[in-house]
Amino acid sequence: MNFLLDIFFPKVCVKCGQQGLNICDECFRKIKIRKFQQCPHCRKQNADGKFCSDYCKKDYMFDQLIVCTDYRQIKSLIIKFKYKFTKDLISIFHNLLKVELKKCTKIITADTFVIPAPIHKTNYKKRGFNQALLLAKAITQIIPNTKLIDCLSEKESRGQQAKLDRSHRLKNIKNSIEIRPHPPLKNILLIDDIVTTGSTLNECSRVLKNTGAKHITAIVLARN
Ligand SMILES: [Zn+2]
Ligand SMILES: [Zn+2]
Repeated sequence: MNFLLDIFFPKVCVKCGQQGLNICDECFRKIKIRKFQQCPHCRKQNADGKFCSDYCKKDYMFDQLIVCTDYRQIKSLIIKFKYKFTKDLISIFHNLLKVELKKCTKIITADTFVIPAPIHKTNYKKRGFNQALLLAKAITQIIPNTKLIDCLSEKESRGQQAKLDRSHRLKNIKNSIEIRPHPPLKNILLIDDIVTTGSTLNECSRVLKNTGAKHITAIVLARN
């Protein structure tokens, strides 16, 4: 099967076009991993992605945001990853995550759960996988003692986020996330691929905190 896929969709580096891999080693090394984090609201630099004041925190339900890289650094990879069914790109992201997450493993306690942000059903039908779930699995391999639970889902009725502007996104996402039965939640790593307005992460966090979560660290590959 892979053999046939390679004939019809030969792997080429998304950055330089060289054949063989989805991104060649040289281009991969050029992706800049963030050397610092930011306050999720005002984007002031800091070491751990926490909010710098109560003022900055007031509209957010998560407590911390860890961003691996900037969106423009990996835009072409993300597009391939999400829309061209190249599930094997997960190994590239695995490496990216590994570099950044090593720095924040200190904050991980033994009762930490890794939870992927849910995917819209229409997108799931198109892609056949939830990219956040794949990333979440990668994280459980990178950080010891974490357990994956895929307990969030989107209600059927919701429209697709990507097609909306900011104010409509905020309205659309409100009350759109459901939670399935789960063990008691305390420390959470909430995973998504890209954060834009943060509205999805925020709504997931609201639902998780309503069911007992104490501390939520959102981890994303890239920020737009
Ligand atoms: Zn290349
Ligand atoms: Zn701030």
